[in-house]
Parts: sequence; C-alpha cells; structure tokens
Amino acid sequence: MSLAPGNGPVQITQDQLQARIHELAQRIRDDYAGRDPHLICVLNGAFMFYTDLVRALGVPCTIDFLQASSYGNEKQSSGEVKLVKDLQFPISDRDVILVEDIVDTGITMSYLLHYLQGRGPASLKVAALLSKPSRRKVEVPVEYLGFTIPDAFVYGYGLDRSQYDRNLPFITSQD
Ligand code: IMP
Repeated sequence: MSLAPGNGPVQITQDQLQARIHELAQRIRDDYAGRDPHLICVLNGAFMFYTDLVRALGVPCTIDFLQASSYGNEKQSSGEVKLVKDLQFPISDRDVILVEDIVDTGITMSYLLHYLQGRGPASLKVAALLSKPSRRKVEVPVEYLGFTIPDAFVYGYGLDRSQYDRNLPFITSQD
C-alpha cells in the first residue's frame, strides 16, 4: 500500500474535489432555500465527501448516519444489501438528502431509497460523489452528482481498497 496516487485512468485531485463539492453545495443551497435539509451519510465510504459537503453547505441542516453492507474486501458486489447501522433520528416530514460515495450497480442506492421512502420523508434526493453508469443494473436518480467515471476500481477520499487508503485526500485508481 502506498499513499501516492496510482497510475490508473481515474485521478481526481483535492482541488478538483473541493471545487466540485462547492458547486454541489451551492445548488443544494438554492434548491432548499428556506428549508433545513436533513443530510444522511452512508458509512463508511461517504464520510469525507459528507463532511466536506456539510461544511460547504453553510446553511442550517441536521445530520444522521446509516451503514449498509458493501463490498468488504471483495471488488464485486454480492447483489445483497443489508442495513448494518440504522438511523438515529426519524425522517418523517423531513427534506432528506442521502449522501453516498459512489453509485456502481445502483443496487445499494436502490435498496436505501426504498427503505427511506418507507419512513415518510417530505422529500428524498441523492447526492453522490461518483457514478459509474456503465456498470448500472438498477436505475437510480442522482440529483447531485460529483463526477461520472469509467468502469475502474477507485479508492481514496473515503473509498477503500481492502479497507485501506480511505485517508488519501484524492481519488485515484490503479491499472
Ligand atoms: P453498488 O451497490 O454496486 O452501486 O455499490 C455501491 C457500493 O460499492 C459503494 O457504496 C462502495 O462502497 C462500493 N464500491 C463500488 N465501486 C467502488 C470502487 O470503485 N471503489 C471502492 N468502492 C466501490
């Protein structure tokens, strides 16, 4: 393991990440003017994106966290999703934004949206840092998207490579 960028096709620098996150925050501010959004972080992968987004938002909001089972140490999804950590707060009548690191097949996001919809939010939107549309098996709406990327395994900035490399301040990939 190295803390240097890999030599793969996807490289997103710290500056690019921060610039894009500030654009997304501005759009959310405009869209939710006069309302206090409730931002839910999907652990673990979204933790860096989430904290930077919430900080950039600069308007009153509330926060919560949930965790779904993900790849573990594998690079292929089993197609099965289960909730590992549930929400702390009710979301009924709240304007919820679900914040995810990456939408790959869409299976996780689809499961989470269905789960949250059942808890009666006033509205429910998705912010995702990354999307790999060529891998999609289930279509999911992503209102606030950071970057569209090709089918490459990426890591850094919250995303793991066998649980390591989440602490890299950039997104990278390896050939
Ligand atoms: P999906 O259910 O296939 O959309 O997968 C979603 C989850 O898989 C994400 O939240 C990540 O945890 C994980 N994942 C998908 N692609 C990557 C990747 O390229 N690097 C690291 N994790 C990934």
